[in-house]
Amino acid sequence: MTDKTRDLFLGVDLGGTDIKSTVTTRAGEILVNHMDKVLSLASDGPAVTVGQMKIAADKALQVVGGSWDEVVYVGLDTPGPASLDGVLARSPNLRHPDWLNFPVRAAFEKAIGKPVVYANDGNAAAYWEYFRLFGDAPDKILGAAILGTGLGGAMVQGGHVLAGARGYGAEFGHVRLPTYDLVTDGDVPVCGCGKKACSEAFVSLTALDRQLRKIFEGGEYLDHPLREVPDEGRARATRLLRLAQEGDALALELFDTQARALGLLFVQLAHAFDPHLFLIGGGITESSEAFRTRYLRGVKESFQREAFPLLGQEIEIAYTGDQDAAGCRGAALLARRYAKEHGL
Ligand SMILES: [Zn+2]
Repeated sequence: MTDKTRDLFLGVDLGGTDIKSTVTTRAGEILVNHMDKVLSLASDGPAVTVGQMKIAADKALQVVGGSWDEVVYVGLDTPGPASLDGVLARSPNLRHPDWLNFPVRAAFEKAIGKPVVYANDGNAAAYWEYFRLFGDAPDKILGAAILGTGLGGAMVQGGHVLAGARGYGAEFGHVRLPTYDLVTDGDVPVCGCGKKACSEAFVSLTALDRQLRKIFEGGEYLDHPLREVPDEGRARATRLLRLAQEGDALALELFDTQARALGLLFVQLAHAFDPHLFLIGGGITESSEAFRTRYLRGVKESFQREAFPLLGQEIEIAYTGDQDAAGCRGAALLARRYAKEHGL
């Protein structure tokens, strides 16, 4: 039975493949923890996808026996880059020409007739992490680096996502790293953005694949099994993670280098933000305990060696929690916070 006295906040996470949604209350309780996924059908264009987003939102409400009358505010997150108001720039995950410059927040708001607040997916996930660890604490600072094809970043201070003046804040993947600490042969890696030495050019699946290619071209590791894997997409880099967990020397060497680079990125960020905590997220969090421990140790050693001693000792570095529902949970909680700030 529908309880009309409730205030509900919906969170919708639009991904390249599927849409996840959840519902939270004014107290921040997550009411939907598992739901059938709804396909985003992003390659059919935004008009189709916005309809799918509405279906995902309806499903979440159904799960809690709720109605749209109870919904105060809605949070939406999508892959970036996008403006603060949810106008999408070129997005590698949403493949249809109509997505370019598409005002996804405004379109969704029109489709559901409820106010929608927007965040990019990295920021929404980081906001969930903040809430998971600190609740509504007003005085904590958390930085996050999410490792995937690229390197996503987010910064949350006092429950506020630092998205910047235009929505392009905390793009840590394009913070540059000191090459004098990382490059010994003068071959400085180039980022997908076209600039040299961005942290994403050292810490991402794309970076791993480039390093692997270079090693093979240099004639090392002639019998390595990855020589047989086609040099395309993420196939080799993904296999590399598995090999590292099995103790493969080359794979471990590459991940050790990556961990060192990530530690150096945290040094830069520590001196800019002095947070309580850095979190590492992405595919690496799903690896074996032994490998995760080794990787984290590498990041910490590099960080502690190069940061001011006080920062090196006191700033904690850890992995994120389960990221599968982090985006929609963060989006729902952002809607909740936004409503609170605006007296709704
Ligand atoms: Zn870059």
